[in-house]
Amino acid sequence: MQIDLIQEARRQAEICNACRYCESYCSVFPALHRERAFADGDITQLANLCHNCRGCYYACQYTAPHEFDLNLPKALAEVRRDSWESFAWPQPVARKFHTHGSAIALALVVGLALLFVAIRSIGSAGGIGFYAALSHNAMVAIFMPAFLFPLASIGFSLRRYWQSVGGKAIKLAHVTSALRDVAKMKDLAAGHGDGCNFEDEDRFTHARRYAHQAIMYGFFLCFASTSTGTIMHYVFDIQAPYPLWSLPKIFGVTGGILLTAGCGWMAWLKLRSERELGDAGAWGGDLGFIALLGFVGFSGLVLYVLGVTAAMPTLLAFHLGAVLSFFVLTPFTKMAHGFYRLAAMVRNAQS
Ligand code: SF4
Ligand code: SF4
Repeated sequence: MQIDLIQEARRQAEICNACRYCESYCSVFPALHRERAFADGDITQLANLCHNCRGCYYACQYTAPHEFDLNLPKALAEVRRDSWESFAWPQPVARKFHTHGSAIALALVVGLALLFVAIRSIGSAGGIGFYAALSHNAMVAIFMPAFLFPLASIGFSLRRYWQSVGGKAIKLAHVTSALRDVAKMKDLAAGHGDGCNFEDEDRFTHARRYAHQAIMYGFFLCFASTSTGTIMHYVFDIQAPYPLWSLPKIFGVTGGILLTAGCGWMAWLKLRSERELGDAGAWGGDLGFIALLGFVGFSGLVLYVLGVTAAMPTLLAFHLGAVLSFFVLTPFTKMAHGFYRLAAMVRNAQS
């Protein structure tokens, strides 16, 4: 990891440890106050507990022009991104995608091109619905490796993180405590429950928390749609296309709406926010990732509405290309933060 980023975050954490004004703001400060000195792993853990709400920046009496020049949200954001890049596997890919929105767009184009080639060369073998454009077996052959690779990659990365922050054996109570906090996104409400200072200077709002929740639950519903479709196909031998009131459709449409709306909202909040209170170097990569995730949801909804028209094969290629790009890029984009944050919460529950 980059020593200069760790040292700067350590300098600021030591000032906060003496000051203690922000004690109740989020999970970072209680964890910070438990330490007298900060090893590199402690700083990495604090960085992954922080969610860049910026509340401590606006409360702080030591920001510039004070000589202490405190900007804890920025210092932790930079360490956080550096930790994802350093622990990622394979590492050089992560350094590229966290900072380059254009690289994400390029990956999307490549994913689309691959899907077009697959559709033209593999074909349908006489299926119906979407399988008239690309057979079920071809979809499985393309998406199974694209799904397993990110899982393996994130597993390697989290193992490195866990070792770095001195994680202990995990008990069920640690996981349930972490999942409870993540499900409610407790820290995004800040300690006082009024929300973040993210997009409108020091005004408190819950907008970022709700946008996060729309994205998270939208994503899980889309995943549930695919999972129930797979069970219906393999266990009950019920083939797609599924009717409107089937579980895959109900989960897929509600998930797609939440995902699209949440990503649009999040992009709008990010465009309004002050870059200098976050990791300015990763701004383009973050926005590119939000756009990709939003496009996954939006293209799925368009496919749902226009899936019976002649445009279906083209729309299917766009949607599957976006999904393919999203899965392959998951370990190297902002999506990694969900996994790291959960790991940080589990580690925090052990303290
Ligand atoms: S951010 Fe500023 S006010 Fe808050 S604990 Fe640190 S030094 Fe004190
Ligand atoms: S930015 Fe928000 S989450 Fe991060 S340390 Fe400050 S108050 Fe806590």
